[in-house]
Amino acid sequence: MIRARILTVAVLLLIAARSPLRVLAQETIPAGAVTLTPALAESGSPELIRVAVPNAQEVTGEWLGKKLEFFQANDGQSWFALAGLDVEAPVGPSTLKIEAKQSGSLRRAELPIEIHAAKYRTEAISVAPRFVEPNPDDLKVIKADNELKNKVFAVSATKPLWHGSFRAPVVASATDSFGVRRMYNGKLASIHKGMDYRAHQGTPVHADNSGTVVLAQRLYYEGNCVVIDHGLGLYTLSMHLSRIDVHVGQQVETGQRLGLSGATGRVTGPHLHWAVRWERAYLDPAKLLKLNLSGVR
Ligand SMILES: [Zn+2]
Repeated sequence: MIRARILTVAVLLLIAARSPLRVLAQETIPAGAVTLTPALAESGSPELIRVAVPNAQEVTGEWLGKKLEFFQANDGQSWFALAGLDVEAPVGPSTLKIEAKQSGSLRRAELPIEIHAAKYRTEAISVAPRFVEPNPDDLKVIKADNELKNKVFAVSATKPLWHGSFRAPVVASATDSFGVRRMYNGKLASIHKGMDYRAHQGTPVHADNSGTVVLAQRLYYEGNCVVIDHGLGLYTLSMHLSRIDVHVGQQVETGQRLGLSGATGRVTGPHLHWAVRWERAYLDPAKLLKLNLSGVR
């Protein structure tokens, strides 16, 4: 028994000695080398995180239990991650952890980030009863939809596919609807995790940025839905379309037509619901549109 334990300890020591991290010198990344845009971190906000570490070979990070994947900027001096805070992210202190590998050294940063509450309205809404109390057949469809979405969102491109800033998907007025607490038919409370555009039936809907179409079909709540993978866990979703003009696997460029707006799925009338998802978090599309990404890649 004792011999077995000594052997276990010896094996652990051997593993520790062989771990490459052991030979790397540990240094700290100065707090000033990490910047967040927007600087005020609010629930629902996308965050462009920049780490200025010249000569790094790899930069990774972690925030609120989510892995951050950084890519190198064109200047070769800084690294970026396009991340964000879920609409339901906990308000209060958090720690942003960054690790940068350089030849012979591992540099770390642990930054305290205060997450502020964004103010969201509450509203009452009426939809067809089957969208609040689905029957057993509807529930089977919803279950299959959820399985499909889980599969789609489990795999994202290993590099960013977007180029420059994101653009509005449709020429129509936007409503201030992200994060609104909605009560459906006086019974079902849910948070609105996208932005609604007042798009008339048949308005062309365009790709907000370049990427790969990973879902293009009718779903129960979303209606005709197109999902674009922009890489590194970032997706945008267009819902309630009357027509879909793209197919799964298709590479799309910014401004390319995805289909026409409509009123399919759980709606009160024709509109475009546009959503931004990063690593299971839903982000405010209006804030993504405000991010200037033209110099990033
Ligand atoms: Zn909506």
